[in-house]
Amino acid sequence: MSDKIEKTDEEWRTQLTPEQFRVCREQGTERAFSGEHYANKARGRYTCACCGSELFSSEHKYDSGSGWPSFWQPAAGAPVTNETDRSHGMIRAEVHCDRCGCHLGHVFEDGPQPTGLRYCINSASLSFEPDEG
Ligand code: FE
Repeated sequence: MSDKIEKTDEEWRTQLTPEQFRVCREQGTERAFSGEHYANKARGRYTCACCGSELFSSEHKYDSGSGWPSFWQPAAGAPVTNETDRSHGMIRAEVHCDRCGCHLGHVFEDGPQPTGLRYCINSASLSFEPDEG
Protein backbone atom coordinates (compact mmCIF):
# COMPACT_ATOMS: atom_id res chain seq x y z
CA MET A 1 0.00 0.00 0.00
CA SER A 2 3.00 2.32 -0.23
CA ASP A 3 2.48 2.93 -3.94
CA LYS A 4 2.20 6.66 -4.53
CA ILE A 5 -0.67 7.94 -6.61
CA GLU A 6 0.06 10.79 -8.99
CA LYS A 7 -2.62 12.39 -11.13
CA THR A 8 -2.89 15.66 -13.00
CA ASP A 9 -5.20 18.41 -11.76
CA GLU A 10 -7.42 17.62 -14.72
CA GLU A 11 -7.74 14.01 -13.60
CA TRP A 12 -8.48 15.00 -10.01
CA ARG A 13 -11.11 17.47 -11.21
CA THR A 14 -13.04 14.73 -12.99
CA GLN A 15 -13.02 12.57 -9.85
CA LEU A 16 -13.75 15.18 -7.16
CA THR A 17 -16.48 17.74 -6.54
CA PRO A 18 -15.37 21.39 -6.95
CA GLU A 19 -15.34 21.78 -3.13
CA GLN A 20 -13.26 18.62 -2.70
CA PHE A 21 -10.82 19.79 -5.37
CA ARG A 22 -10.43 23.19 -3.70
CA VAL A 23 -9.77 21.66 -0.28
CA CYS A 24 -7.82 18.53 -1.22
CA ARG A 25 -5.71 19.70 -4.12
CA GLU A 26 -5.49 23.47 -3.46
CA GLN A 27 -4.96 23.38 0.33
CA GLY A 28 -8.35 24.95 0.96
CA THR A 29 -10.37 24.95 4.16
CA GLU A 30 -14.09 24.32 4.30
CA ARG A 31 -16.28 26.62 6.38
CA ALA A 32 -16.60 25.50 10.01
CA PHE A 33 -19.75 23.46 10.72
CA SER A 34 -20.38 23.12 6.96
CA GLY A 35 -18.91 19.67 6.34
CA GLU A 36 -20.76 16.39 6.35
CA HIS A 37 -18.61 14.58 8.94
CA TYR A 38 -17.96 17.01 11.81
CA ALA A 39 -20.96 15.86 13.87
CA ASN A 40 -20.87 12.22 12.75
CA LYS A 41 -20.74 9.90 15.75
CA ALA A 42 -21.25 6.62 13.88
CA ARG A 43 -18.62 3.91 14.13
CA GLY A 44 -16.50 3.38 11.06
CA ARG A 45 -13.48 4.28 9.02
CA TYR A 46 -12.61 7.59 7.41
CA THR A 47 -10.80 7.17 4.12
CA CYS A 48 -9.01 9.61 1.82
CA ALA A 49 -11.50 11.28 -0.54
CA CYS A 50 -8.87 11.16 -3.27
CA CYS A 51 -7.23 7.72 -3.05
CA GLY A 52 -9.33 5.69 -0.59
CA SER A 53 -6.52 4.99 1.91
CA GLU A 54 -7.78 4.44 5.45
CA LEU A 55 -6.75 7.55 7.41
CA PHE A 56 -8.79 7.90 10.60
CA SER A 57 -11.12 5.83 12.79
CA SER A 58 -14.25 6.83 14.68
CA GLU A 59 -12.47 5.36 17.74
CA HIS A 60 -10.18 8.39 17.84
CA LYS A 61 -12.77 11.02 16.87
CA TYR A 62 -14.00 13.54 19.42
CA ASP A 63 -16.03 16.73 19.48
CA SER A 64 -13.53 19.58 19.66
CA GLY A 65 -16.24 22.21 19.18
CA SER A 66 -14.27 23.61 16.22
CA GLY A 67 -16.77 22.67 13.52
CA TRP A 68 -14.34 20.32 11.76
CA PRO A 69 -13.94 16.57 12.25
CA SER A 70 -11.32 16.17 14.99
CA PHE A 71 -9.24 13.15 15.89
CA TRP A 72 -6.57 12.65 18.55
CA GLN A 73 -4.57 10.31 16.33
CA PRO A 74 -4.61 8.80 12.83
CA ALA A 75 -5.61 5.18 12.26
CA ALA A 76 -2.83 2.64 12.87
CA GLY A 77 -0.39 2.64 9.98
CA ALA A 78 -2.28 5.37 8.11
CA PRO A 79 -0.27 7.41 5.56
CA VAL A 80 -0.87 10.69 7.42
CA THR A 81 2.12 13.06 7.24
CA ASN A 82 2.84 16.53 8.63
CA GLU A 83 4.57 19.43 6.95
CA THR A 84 5.25 22.96 8.18
CA ASP A 85 2.78 25.48 6.73
CA ARG A 86 3.79 29.14 6.93
CA SER A 87 0.80 30.55 5.03
CA HIS A 88 -1.66 33.15 6.39
CA GLY A 89 0.98 34.58 8.79
CA MET A 90 0.94 31.50 11.03
CA ILE A 91 3.22 28.54 11.54
CA ARG A 92 1.08 25.42 11.54
CA ALA A 93 1.56 21.73 10.92
CA GLU A 94 -0.25 20.91 7.68
CA VAL A 95 -1.50 17.32 7.44
CA HIS A 96 -1.83 15.39 4.20
CA CYS A 97 -2.25 11.90 2.79
CA ASP A 98 1.25 10.71 1.97
CA ARG A 99 -0.03 8.33 -0.68
CA CYS A 100 -1.70 10.86 -2.97
CA GLY A 101 -0.79 14.28 -1.54
CA CYS A 102 -4.38 15.14 -0.55
CA HIS A 103 -4.48 18.09 1.87
CA LEU A 104 -6.40 16.99 4.96
CA GLY A 105 -6.15 19.84 7.47
CA HIS A 106 -3.81 20.78 10.32
CA VAL A 107 -2.65 19.22 13.60
CA PHE A 108 -2.54 21.26 16.81
CA GLU A 109 -1.18 20.49 20.27
CA ASP A 110 -4.37 21.27 22.20
CA GLY A 111 -6.07 17.90 21.88
CA PRO A 112 -7.17 15.40 24.53
CA GLN A 113 -5.03 12.73 26.16
CA PRO A 114 -3.42 10.33 25.56
CA THR A 115 -1.76 12.18 22.66
CA GLY A 116 -2.62 15.81 23.39
CA LEU A 117 -3.07 16.23 19.63
CA ARG A 118 -5.97 17.61 17.64
CA TYR A 119 -6.07 16.56 14.02
CA CYS A 120 -8.42 19.18 12.58
CA ILE A 121 -9.54 17.67 9.29
CA ASN A 122 -11.79 18.88 6.49
CA SER A 123 -14.86 16.74 5.82
CA ALA A 124 -14.24 17.35 2.13
CA SER A 125 -11.00 15.36 2.36
CA LEU A 126 -12.70 12.31 3.87
CA SER A 127 -15.14 9.59 2.89
CA PHE A 128 -16.89 7.68 5.67
CA GLU A 129 -17.39 3.92 5.63
CA PRO A 130 -19.66 2.82 8.51
CA ASP A 131 -18.95 -0.43 10.34
CA GLU A 132 -21.24 -3.28 9.42
CA GLY A 133 -23.91 -4.28 11.91
FE1 FE B 1 -4.93 9.92 -0.40
